[in-house]
Amino acid sequence: MGSFDDLRVWREADFSGRMGWYRAVAANRLPAKFRLCAALPAGIALDAPEDDLWRALDAGTESMLALQARIRSDAAALPVQGVRPSLLDLCAELGRRMLAHCNFCRWDCRVDRTRGTKLGACKLASETRVSSYFHHGGEELVYRGTHGSGTIFFTSCNMRCAFCQNGDISTDRLNGEAVSARTLAAMAWILRREGCHNINWVGGDPTIHLHTILEAIALLPRFTPAENDIAAALPAKADWRMAFPAGRSCAEYAGAFNAPMLWNSNFFMSDEAMKLLRLTMDVWLPDFKFGPGRCAVELARTGWYWETVTANLRRLEEWGEDFTIRHLVMPGHVECCTAPVLDWIAGNMPEAPVNIMDQYHPDNYCETSNPKFMERFAVLARRPRREEILAAFRHAKQRGIRFEDLSYERNQTGLHL
Ligand code: SF4
Repeated sequence: MGSFDDLRVWREADFSGRMGWYRAVAANRLPAKFRLCAALPAGIALDAPEDDLWRALDAGTESMLALQARIRSDAAALPVQGVRPSLLDLCAELGRRMLAHCNFCRWDCRVDRTRGTKLGACKLASETRVSSYFHHGGEELVYRGTHGSGTIFFTSCNMRCAFCQNGDISTDRLNGEAVSARTLAAMAWILRREGCHNINWVGGDPTIHLHTILEAIALLPRFTPAENDIAAALPAKADWRMAFPAGRSCAEYAGAFNAPMLWNSNFFMSDEAMKLLRLTMDVWLPDFKFGPGRCAVELARTGWYWETVTANLRRLEEWGEDFTIRHLVMPGHVECCTAPVLDWIAGNMPEAPVNIMDQYHPDNYCETSNPKFMERFAVLARRPRREEILAAFRHAKQRGIRFEDLSYERNQTGLHL
Protein backbone atom coordinates (compact mmCIF):
# COMPACT_ATOMS: atom_id res chain seq x y z
CA MET A 1 0.00 0.00 0.00
CA GLY A 2 3.06 2.24 0.06
CA SER A 3 2.34 3.49 -3.41
CA PHE A 4 -0.96 5.05 -2.29
CA ASP A 5 0.89 7.08 0.29
CA ASP A 6 3.38 8.20 -2.36
CA LEU A 7 0.79 9.62 -4.76
CA ARG A 8 1.83 13.02 -6.04
CA VAL A 9 -1.55 14.37 -5.03
CA TRP A 10 -0.50 14.28 -1.36
CA ARG A 11 2.18 16.85 -2.10
CA GLU A 12 -0.49 19.34 -3.13
CA ALA A 13 -1.81 21.64 -0.46
CA ASP A 14 -5.47 21.06 -1.44
CA PHE A 15 -5.28 17.47 -0.30
CA SER A 16 -2.45 17.08 2.18
CA GLY A 17 -4.08 19.49 4.64
CA ARG A 18 -7.73 18.53 4.21
CA MET A 19 -7.61 14.79 3.65
CA GLY A 20 -5.17 13.73 6.37
CA TRP A 21 -7.54 11.45 8.29
CA TYR A 22 -8.66 9.63 5.17
CA ARG A 23 -5.12 9.21 3.89
CA ALA A 24 -3.87 7.77 7.19
CA VAL A 25 -6.78 5.33 7.47
CA ALA A 26 -6.35 4.26 3.84
CA ALA A 27 -2.69 3.50 4.59
CA ASN A 28 -3.67 1.72 7.86
CA ARG A 29 -1.69 4.14 10.00
CA LEU A 30 -4.92 4.99 11.82
CA PRO A 31 -8.09 3.04 12.57
CA ALA A 32 -11.26 3.93 10.66
CA LYS A 33 -14.04 5.63 12.59
CA PHE A 34 -16.09 2.43 12.71
CA ARG A 35 -13.23 0.83 14.64
CA LEU A 36 -13.35 3.67 17.20
CA CYS A 37 -17.11 3.27 17.55
CA ALA A 38 -16.69 -0.48 18.03
CA ALA A 39 -14.36 0.23 20.96
CA LEU A 40 -16.77 2.55 22.79
CA PRO A 41 -19.83 1.43 24.77
CA ALA A 42 -23.31 2.34 23.56
CA GLY A 43 -24.13 3.34 27.13
CA ILE A 44 -27.68 2.06 26.79
CA ALA A 45 -29.58 -1.19 26.19
CA LEU A 46 -30.54 -1.41 22.53
CA ASP A 47 -34.19 -2.21 23.29
CA ALA A 48 -34.63 1.24 24.89
CA PRO A 49 -37.13 3.73 23.37
CA GLU A 50 -35.82 5.42 20.25
CA ASP A 51 -35.62 8.91 21.78
CA ASP A 52 -33.34 7.53 24.49
CA LEU A 53 -31.18 5.85 21.86
CA TRP A 54 -30.69 9.18 20.08
CA ARG A 55 -29.68 10.83 23.37
CA ALA A 56 -27.16 8.04 23.91
CA LEU A 57 -25.88 8.58 20.38
CA ASP A 58 -25.29 12.28 21.06
CA ALA A 59 -23.28 11.41 24.19
CA GLY A 60 -21.42 8.68 22.28
CA THR A 61 -20.56 11.12 19.50
CA GLU A 62 -18.75 13.34 22.00
CA SER A 63 -16.78 10.33 23.26
CA MET A 64 -15.92 9.22 19.75
CA LEU A 65 -14.71 12.67 18.69
CA ALA A 66 -12.56 12.96 21.82
CA LEU A 67 -11.05 9.52 21.17
CA GLN A 68 -10.47 10.37 17.51
CA ALA A 69 -8.61 13.56 18.50
CA ARG A 70 -6.43 11.66 21.01
CA ILE A 71 -5.60 8.89 18.56
CA ARG A 72 -4.91 11.37 15.82
CA SER A 73 -2.42 13.26 17.99
CA ASP A 74 -0.82 10.02 19.13
CA ALA A 75 -2.00 10.61 22.71
CA ALA A 76 -3.96 7.36 22.93
CA ALA A 77 -4.04 3.87 21.48
CA LEU A 78 -7.16 2.17 20.15
CA PRO A 79 -8.93 0.64 23.16
CA VAL A 80 -9.37 -3.13 23.18
CA GLN A 81 -12.39 -4.04 21.04
CA GLY A 82 -15.19 -6.30 22.18
CA VAL A 83 -17.46 -4.04 24.23
CA ARG A 84 -21.14 -4.93 23.57
CA PRO A 85 -23.35 -3.22 22.77
CA SER A 86 -20.95 -0.75 21.27
CA LEU A 87 -21.53 2.70 19.85
CA LEU A 88 -21.31 1.02 16.44
CA ASP A 89 -24.07 -1.41 17.42
CA LEU A 90 -26.13 1.61 18.47
CA CYS A 91 -25.70 3.15 14.99
CA ALA A 92 -26.94 -0.06 13.38
CA GLU A 93 -29.89 -0.26 15.77
CA LEU A 94 -30.90 3.34 14.99
CA GLY A 95 -30.75 2.52 11.27
CA ARG A 96 -33.18 -0.35 11.90
CA ARG A 97 -35.47 1.88 13.99
CA MET A 98 -35.52 4.59 11.32
CA LEU A 99 -36.50 2.06 8.66
CA ALA A 100 -39.81 1.52 10.46
CA HIS A 101 -40.75 5.22 9.97
CA CYS A 102 -38.35 6.00 7.20
CA ASN A 103 -36.63 9.34 7.48
CA PHE A 104 -33.30 8.44 5.92
CA CYS A 105 -33.59 11.37 3.53
CA ARG A 106 -35.26 14.77 3.28
CA TRP A 107 -38.42 13.32 1.77
CA ASP A 108 -39.17 12.26 5.33
CA CYS A 109 -41.81 9.81 4.07
CA ARG A 110 -42.41 8.22 7.52
CA VAL A 111 -43.49 4.93 5.93
CA ASP A 112 -42.78 1.61 7.61
CA ARG A 113 -40.41 0.00 5.15
CA THR A 114 -40.17 -3.16 7.28
CA ARG A 115 -43.78 -3.93 6.25
CA GLY A 116 -43.54 -2.68 2.70
CA THR A 117 -47.29 -2.11 2.40
CA LYS A 118 -46.83 1.60 1.81
CA LEU A 119 -43.81 2.93 -0.03
CA GLY A 120 -42.10 6.30 0.03
CA ALA A 121 -40.54 8.38 -2.73
CA CYS A 122 -37.75 5.83 -3.31
CA LYS A 123 -40.36 3.04 -3.79
CA LEU A 124 -38.34 0.63 -1.65
CA ALA A 125 -39.31 -1.66 1.20
CA SER A 126 -36.53 -3.11 3.34
CA GLU A 127 -34.67 -5.09 0.67
CA THR A 128 -31.27 -3.80 -0.41
CA ARG A 129 -29.94 -4.63 -3.86
CA VAL A 130 -26.43 -4.20 -5.23
CA SER A 131 -26.09 -3.66 -8.95
CA SER A 132 -22.36 -4.42 -9.03
CA TYR A 133 -19.15 -3.82 -7.10
CA PHE A 134 -15.56 -3.57 -8.28
CA HIS A 135 -12.24 -1.72 -8.21
CA HIS A 136 -13.26 1.63 -9.70
CA GLY A 137 -10.47 3.13 -11.78
CA GLY A 138 -12.46 6.18 -12.85
CA GLU A 139 -12.80 8.07 -9.56
CA GLU A 140 -10.59 11.00 -8.62
CA LEU A 141 -6.94 10.10 -7.99
CA VAL A 142 -7.28 10.52 -4.21
CA TYR A 143 -9.91 7.78 -4.29
CA ARG A 144 -8.82 5.45 -7.10
CA GLY A 145 -5.13 5.59 -6.07
CA THR A 146 -3.14 2.71 -7.51
CA HIS A 147 -5.52 -0.20 -6.79
CA GLY A 148 -8.90 1.41 -7.35
CA SER A 149 -11.74 2.64 -5.18
CA GLY A 150 -13.73 -0.27 -3.71
CA THR A 151 -17.04 0.83 -5.16
CA ILE A 152 -20.38 -0.76 -4.29
CA PHE A 153 -23.23 0.40 -6.55
CA PHE A 154 -26.65 0.20 -4.92
CA THR A 155 -29.86 -0.02 -6.91
CA SER A 156 -32.48 2.81 -6.92
CA CYS A 157 -32.45 6.45 -5.91
CA ASN A 158 -34.42 9.01 -3.94
CA MET A 159 -34.07 11.64 -6.68
CA ARG A 160 -35.42 11.48 -10.22
CA CYS A 161 -32.82 13.24 -12.35
CA ALA A 162 -34.09 13.12 -15.93
CA PHE A 163 -30.52 12.99 -17.24
CA CYS A 164 -29.23 10.42 -14.72
CA GLN A 165 -25.86 9.16 -15.94
CA ASN A 166 -26.50 5.84 -14.14
CA GLY A 167 -30.15 5.49 -15.18
CA ASP A 168 -30.02 1.70 -15.59
CA ILE A 169 -29.17 1.39 -11.89
CA SER A 170 -31.13 4.27 -10.42
CA THR A 171 -34.47 3.79 -12.17
CA ASP A 172 -34.74 -0.01 -12.12
CA ARG A 173 -35.38 -1.05 -8.55
CA LEU A 174 -35.03 -4.74 -9.38
CA ASN A 175 -31.59 -4.30 -10.90
CA GLY A 176 -28.76 -6.36 -9.38
CA GLU A 177 -28.71 -8.84 -6.51
CA ALA A 178 -30.56 -8.74 -3.19
CA VAL A 179 -27.99 -8.63 -0.38
CA SER A 180 -27.98 -9.23 3.35
CA ALA A 181 -25.79 -7.19 5.70
CA ARG A 182 -23.37 -10.16 5.85
CA THR A 183 -23.12 -10.29 2.06
CA LEU A 184 -22.48 -6.56 1.97
CA ALA A 185 -19.78 -6.90 4.63
CA ALA A 186 -18.22 -9.69 2.56
CA MET A 187 -18.17 -7.40 -0.49
CA ALA A 188 -16.37 -4.69 1.49
CA TRP A 189 -13.98 -7.27 2.93
CA ILE A 190 -13.14 -8.68 -0.54
CA LEU A 191 -12.51 -5.25 -2.05
CA ARG A 192 -10.23 -4.13 0.75
CA ARG A 193 -8.34 -7.43 0.90
CA GLU A 194 -7.75 -7.03 -2.83
CA GLY A 195 -6.08 -3.68 -2.16
CA CYS A 196 -8.80 -1.07 -2.71
CA HIS A 197 -8.05 2.17 -0.88
CA ASN A 198 -11.55 2.76 0.43
CA ILE A 199 -15.06 1.34 0.51
CA ASN A 200 -17.07 3.62 -1.75
CA TRP A 201 -20.82 3.48 -0.96
CA VAL A 202 -22.68 4.82 -4.02
CA GLY A 203 -25.67 4.17 -6.31
CA GLY A 204 -28.27 5.23 -7.45
CA ASP A 205 -27.88 6.56 -3.97
CA PRO A 206 -26.68 4.78 -0.82
CA THR A 207 -28.87 6.82 1.58
CA ILE A 208 -31.97 4.74 0.90
CA HIS A 209 -30.01 1.62 1.98
CA LEU A 210 -28.65 3.14 5.16
CA HIS A 211 -30.02 0.36 7.41
CA THR A 212 -28.17 -2.43 5.57
CA ILE A 213 -24.99 -0.39 5.19
CA LEU A 214 -24.81 0.38 8.92
CA GLU A 215 -25.53 -3.23 9.79
CA ALA A 216 -22.76 -4.37 7.44
CA ILE A 217 -20.27 -1.87 8.88
CA ALA A 218 -21.19 -3.03 12.39
CA LEU A 219 -20.10 -6.55 11.40
CA LEU A 220 -16.73 -5.51 9.98
CA PRO A 221 -14.60 -5.13 13.17
CA ARG A 222 -14.91 -8.87 13.86
CA PHE A 223 -15.60 -10.08 10.35
CA THR A 224 -14.11 -13.06 8.56
CA PRO A 225 -16.38 -14.23 5.77
CA ALA A 226 -17.41 -17.87 5.66
CA GLU A 227 -17.42 -19.76 2.39
CA ASN A 228 -21.13 -19.15 1.92
CA ASP A 229 -20.62 -15.38 2.49
CA ILE A 230 -18.07 -15.30 -0.32
CA ALA A 231 -20.34 -17.38 -2.54
CA ALA A 232 -23.22 -14.96 -1.91
CA ALA A 233 -21.02 -11.94 -2.63
CA LEU A 234 -19.31 -13.00 -5.83
CA PRO A 235 -22.21 -12.93 -8.37
CA ALA A 236 -22.43 -9.11 -8.26
CA LYS A 237 -18.66 -8.62 -8.55
CA ALA A 238 -17.98 -7.06 -11.94
CA ASP A 239 -14.23 -7.79 -11.84
CA TRP A 240 -14.50 -11.17 -10.13
CA ARG A 241 -11.36 -12.54 -11.76
CA MET A 242 -9.44 -10.20 -9.47
CA ALA A 243 -10.77 -11.95 -6.38
CA PHE A 244 -8.18 -12.23 -3.61
CA PRO A 245 -4.71 -11.47 -4.96
CA ALA A 246 -3.55 -9.07 -2.25
CA GLY A 247 -3.92 -10.18 1.39
CA ARG A 248 -4.54 -9.05 4.91
CA SER A 249 -1.63 -6.64 5.27
CA CYS A 250 -3.43 -4.03 3.16
CA ALA A 251 -6.68 -4.44 5.10
CA GLU A 252 -5.82 -4.41 8.80
CA TYR A 253 -5.06 -2.12 11.69
CA ALA A 254 -4.10 -3.66 15.06
CA GLY A 255 -5.04 -7.13 13.88
CA ALA A 256 -8.56 -6.43 12.65
CA PHE A 257 -10.25 -5.24 9.47
CA ASN A 258 -9.68 -1.62 8.58
CA ALA A 259 -10.73 0.55 5.63
CA PRO A 260 -11.83 4.16 5.17
CA MET A 261 -15.53 4.44 4.47
CA LEU A 262 -16.43 6.86 1.64
CA TRP A 263 -19.96 8.32 1.36
CA ASN A 264 -20.54 9.07 -2.34
CA SER A 265 -24.02 10.55 -2.49
CA ASN A 266 -26.46 13.16 -3.76
CA PHE A 267 -26.40 14.52 -0.19
CA PHE A 268 -30.15 14.60 0.18
CA MET A 269 -29.85 12.96 3.61
CA SER A 270 -31.88 13.78 6.72
CA ASP A 271 -30.34 15.31 9.86
CA GLU A 272 -30.61 11.94 11.58
CA ALA A 273 -28.85 10.11 8.76
CA MET A 274 -26.04 12.67 8.93
CA LYS A 275 -25.59 11.98 12.65
CA LEU A 276 -25.11 8.27 11.99
CA LEU A 277 -22.84 8.85 9.03
CA ARG A 278 -20.66 11.24 11.01
CA LEU A 279 -19.70 8.30 13.21
CA THR A 280 -19.06 5.84 10.41
CA MET A 281 -17.73 7.72 7.35
CA ASP A 282 -14.08 8.74 7.08
CA VAL A 283 -14.38 10.73 3.87
CA TRP A 284 -17.24 12.22 1.85
CA LEU A 285 -17.92 12.80 -1.84
CA PRO A 286 -21.00 15.03 -2.15
CA ASP A 287 -22.61 15.69 -5.50
CA PHE A 288 -23.76 19.34 -5.73
CA LYS A 289 -25.87 19.54 -8.89
CA PHE A 290 -28.54 22.22 -8.92
CA GLY A 291 -28.79 25.91 -8.14
CA PRO A 292 -31.40 27.43 -5.80
CA GLY A 293 -34.02 27.99 -8.52
CA ARG A 294 -36.56 25.55 -9.99
CA CYS A 295 -34.09 23.21 -11.73
CA ALA A 296 -34.07 20.53 -9.02
CA VAL A 297 -37.87 20.35 -9.16
CA GLU A 298 -38.13 20.50 -12.93
CA LEU A 299 -35.27 18.13 -13.76
CA ALA A 300 -35.22 15.84 -10.72
CA ARG A 301 -38.67 16.18 -9.17
CA THR A 302 -36.93 17.03 -5.91
CA GLY A 303 -38.09 19.77 -3.55
CA TRP A 304 -35.96 21.28 -0.76
CA TYR A 305 -32.83 20.42 -2.77
CA TRP A 306 -30.78 23.56 -2.24
CA GLU A 307 -31.47 23.99 1.47
CA THR A 308 -30.89 20.29 2.20
CA VAL A 309 -27.62 19.88 0.31
CA THR A 310 -26.13 23.17 1.47
CA ALA A 311 -27.05 22.39 5.10
CA ASN A 312 -25.36 19.00 4.87
CA LEU A 313 -22.29 20.48 3.19
CA ARG A 314 -22.08 23.15 5.88
CA ARG A 315 -22.09 20.42 8.51
CA LEU A 316 -19.12 18.69 6.89
CA GLU A 317 -17.18 21.92 6.99
CA GLU A 318 -18.14 22.68 10.61
CA TRP A 319 -17.29 19.14 11.68
CA GLY A 320 -13.85 19.36 10.02
CA GLU A 321 -14.52 16.31 7.86
CA ASP A 322 -12.42 15.18 4.88
CA PHE A 323 -14.32 15.71 1.63
CA THR A 324 -14.22 16.78 -1.99
CA ILE A 325 -17.21 18.12 -3.96
CA ARG A 326 -18.40 17.15 -7.44
CA HIS A 327 -20.36 19.37 -9.80
CA LEU A 328 -21.48 18.13 -13.21
CA VAL A 329 -21.76 20.87 -15.84
CA MET A 330 -25.13 20.42 -17.57
CA PRO A 331 -25.93 21.87 -21.01
CA GLY A 332 -27.85 25.12 -20.73
CA HIS A 333 -27.47 25.20 -16.93
CA VAL A 334 -24.26 27.13 -16.37
CA GLU A 335 -25.98 30.33 -15.27
CA CYS A 336 -28.77 28.81 -13.21
CA CYS A 337 -26.88 25.89 -11.63
CA THR A 338 -23.08 25.97 -12.11
CA ALA A 339 -22.60 29.65 -11.20
CA PRO A 340 -24.66 29.66 -7.97
CA VAL A 341 -23.20 26.32 -6.87
CA LEU A 342 -19.67 27.66 -7.30
CA ASP A 343 -20.59 30.99 -5.69
CA TRP A 344 -21.97 29.18 -2.67
CA ILE A 345 -18.86 27.03 -2.31
CA ALA A 346 -16.63 30.11 -2.62
CA GLY A 347 -18.62 31.90 0.06
CA ASN A 348 -18.94 29.03 2.52
CA MET A 349 -16.00 26.66 2.08
CA PRO A 350 -13.46 28.31 -0.22
CA GLU A 351 -10.75 25.76 0.56
CA ALA A 352 -12.83 22.73 -0.44
CA PRO A 353 -11.44 20.85 -3.46
CA VAL A 354 -14.04 20.75 -6.24
CA ASN A 355 -14.24 18.53 -9.31
CA ILE A 356 -16.05 20.44 -12.07
CA MET A 357 -16.96 17.55 -14.34
CA ASP A 358 -17.19 17.87 -18.11
CA GLN A 359 -18.43 14.37 -18.98
CA TYR A 360 -22.18 15.00 -19.14
CA HIS A 361 -23.80 12.98 -21.92
CA PRO A 362 -27.50 12.78 -22.79
CA ASP A 363 -28.96 9.75 -21.04
CA ASN A 364 -32.18 8.36 -19.64
CA TYR A 365 -35.12 10.73 -20.37
CA CYS A 366 -32.82 13.18 -22.18
CA GLU A 367 -31.42 10.87 -24.85
CA THR A 368 -33.37 11.09 -28.11
CA SER A 369 -32.68 7.47 -29.09
CA ASN A 370 -33.90 6.17 -25.72
CA PRO A 371 -37.56 5.02 -25.69
CA LYS A 372 -37.90 6.93 -22.40
CA PHE A 373 -36.99 10.26 -24.07
CA MET A 374 -39.30 13.17 -23.20
CA GLU A 375 -39.54 16.23 -25.40
CA ARG A 376 -39.59 18.59 -22.43
CA PHE A 377 -35.99 17.58 -21.68
CA ALA A 378 -34.79 18.30 -25.22
CA VAL A 379 -32.55 21.11 -23.95
CA LEU A 380 -30.50 18.44 -22.15
CA ALA A 381 -30.20 16.19 -25.22
CA ARG A 382 -26.68 17.32 -26.08
CA ARG A 383 -23.25 17.46 -24.53
CA PRO A 384 -22.18 20.77 -22.94
CA ARG A 385 -20.50 23.07 -25.42
CA ARG A 386 -16.81 23.84 -25.16
CA GLU A 387 -17.73 27.41 -24.20
CA GLU A 388 -19.96 26.18 -21.35
CA ILE A 389 -17.19 24.06 -19.84
CA LEU A 390 -14.71 26.93 -20.12
CA ALA A 391 -17.25 29.34 -18.62
CA ALA A 392 -17.59 27.02 -15.63
CA PHE A 393 -13.82 26.85 -15.18
CA ARG A 394 -13.50 30.63 -15.57
CA HIS A 395 -16.19 31.25 -12.98
CA ALA A 396 -14.47 28.91 -10.53
CA LYS A 397 -11.14 30.62 -11.14
CA GLN A 398 -12.61 34.08 -10.61
CA ARG A 399 -14.16 32.95 -7.33
CA GLY A 400 -10.88 31.47 -6.10
CA ILE A 401 -12.16 27.90 -5.98
CA ARG A 402 -9.67 25.03 -5.79
CA PHE A 403 -10.73 23.01 -8.78
CA GLU A 404 -7.80 22.58 -11.17
CA ASP A 405 -6.20 19.50 -9.62
CA LEU A 406 -9.41 17.47 -9.59
CA SER A 407 -11.03 18.85 -12.74
CA TYR A 408 -8.13 18.75 -15.19
CA GLU A 409 -6.63 15.47 -14.13
CA ARG A 410 -8.71 13.22 -16.40
CA ASN A 411 -11.40 15.40 -17.94
CA GLN A 412 -13.00 13.99 -21.06
CA THR A 413 -12.82 17.14 -23.18
CA GLY A 414 -9.21 17.86 -22.26
CA LEU A 415 -10.21 21.50 -21.85
CA HIS A 416 -8.55 23.71 -19.29
CA LEU A 417 -7.91 27.41 -18.85
S1 SF4 B 1 -35.25 6.69 1.98
FE1 SF4 B 1 -36.10 8.74 1.67
S2 SF4 B 1 -37.46 8.49 -0.09
FE2 SF4 B 1 -37.11 6.43 0.71
S3 SF4 B 1 -38.82 6.08 2.15
FE3 SF4 B 1 -37.05 6.87 3.31
S4 SF4 B 1 -37.41 9.07 3.47
FE4 SF4 B 1 -38.69 8.28 1.76
